[in-house]
Amino acid sequence: REFCTAEEVRHCNVGTIGHIDHGKTTLTAAITKVLEKEGLAKFISYDEIDRAPEEKARGITINATHVEYSTKLRHYAHTDCPGHADYIKNMISGASQMDGAVIVVAADDGPMPQTREHLLLAKQVGVEKVVVFINKADVVNEDVIELVEIEMRELLSGFGFDGVETPVVVGSALLALKGDSSPLGEQSIKSLLNALDEHIPKPTRDTKSPFLLPVDNAFTVPGRGTVVTGTLTRGILRKNAEGELLGFDEHIKTSVADVQIFKKSVSKAVAGDNLGALLRGVRITSVQKGMLFCESKSVSISNHFIANVYFLSRSEGGRSKPIMSRYIQQLFSKTWNIPCRIDLMEGNEMIMPGENVCVYLTLLKKMVMLPGQSFTIRENNVTVGTGIISEVKS
Ligand code: GDP
Ligand code: MG
Repeated sequence: REFCTAEEVRHCNVGTIGHIDHGKTTLTAAITKVLEKEGLAKFISYDEIDRAPEEKARGITINATHVEYSTKLRHYAHTDCPGHADYIKNMISGASQMDGAVIVVAADDGPMPQTREHLLLAKQVGVEKVVVFINKADVVNEDVIELVEIEMRELLSGFGFDGVETPVVVGSALLALKGDSSPLGEQSIKSLLNALDEHIPKPTRDTKSPFLLPVDNAFTVPGRGTVVTGTLTRGILRKNAEGELLGFDEHIKTSVADVQIFKKSVSKAVAGDNLGALLRGVRITSVQKGMLFCESKSVSISNHFIANVYFLSRSEGGRSKPIMSRYIQQLFSKTWNIPCRIDLMEGNEMIMPGENVCVYLTLLKKMVMLPGQSFTIRENNVTVGTGIISEVKS
C-alpha cells in the first residue's frame, strides 16, 4: 500500500463498543502500542485509558478517553468509555459522533446483552458501518470462534448492518499488548486497522442525496423577495431548483430564484456551503428559523417519532421524580424548540432518572426530524433528558 500525501490523509472518528470485560480498553491500548512501533501513535497504557476524565456534554457527566492514532491512510480519533452507562450517554448525546465502531466480543462469552444494546444504539444514532473484533481468541479453540462469528453475523443482520460484508477480525488484544507478534497478537491488530481503513467510509460530504438546507435565518431583499440562509447539509442546490419549506406545520412549495455564496450569485452550492437562497413567492412572515428547505418529497414532516432518550440522574442535574406517560415538556433540536409529549412504550410504566429507554414523541407541530437527529428535553430551561430519533411515524 502506498503512502498518501498529507491532503489525502482523512480524519475519522471511531470507538470501541461491546459488553463489559470483553476487552475494549485492552484493545484500545494494544492499537496504540502496535502503531507506536511504526511511529504512528503514542502508546497509551491500559491504566491511562481506564482513568477516563469526566466530560460534560449537554449537562450530562460522561467518562470517556479519546485516543489518537494514524494508519498510513488515515488519522483516527478513538473513543473508549469505562462503563456501560458512559457508552449509552456518549452515544445518545452524540458527544463523539462516530463514523464507525469496533464491536468487541470475547470469544469465550460470545455476544452478550451489552453487545446487542450497543449495536442497536449504534444503528439508531446513525453509525452505518462496524468492524467486529473477536477478542480473547487465545483462550478458546477454533470451533468456538467460528460459532461466535456466525452469531455475530446474524446479530449484525438483525440490527440492519451488513452481516455478510462486515469484516470479522480474530485476535487477542492482551497478547498484542504484551508485544506478541503471532497472528493472534500484533498481526490481528494490523488486520483490524486495515479493516477500519477499508470498511469505514471516508467521512465525505454527501453531494449525491437530495438537497437539505436547515434554515438559520431569513430576510427580505426589497423588490426581490425572501432569502433563507444556512449551511447545506447534503446534496447540491441549483438555481431554479424546485423545493419545499417544511416545519411548524407548514408545507410551502417554492423554487430557487438565486443562490448566493459570500454575497455573490452562483449557479449551484454544494453540501458544506454556507449560502443564501432567494425563494420565489414566499412571504417572510411564513418563514421561521428551524424550518427545512429541501428537495420536493425527499423528507416528510410529522408529529410522531420514536426516539431513544436518556434521562439525567439527580446528581447530573436531572429530575428527582420518575417520568410517566403523557409527560409534556419543551423539546430542543438544532435551532428550534417546541412543546413535546413523551409516552412510554407498552410494558414501561415509568422511567427513573438515570435510565435510557425508547419512547414515543408527539410534537405540538409537524417538524422534520431525521433518524439520528439529536435533541434535548428541558424543564424550566434545565436539561433533564437527551435523545436521538430512531424512527419517523406518519
Ligand atoms: P472492557 O471492559 O471491555 O474494557 O475490558 P478490558 O479491556 O478491561 O478487559 C477485561 C479483562 O479481560 C481484563 O482482565 C483483560 O486483561 C482481559 N483481556 C482482554 N483482552 C484479552 C485477551 O485477548 N485474552 C485474554 N485472555 N484476556 C483478555
Ligand atoms: Mg474498558
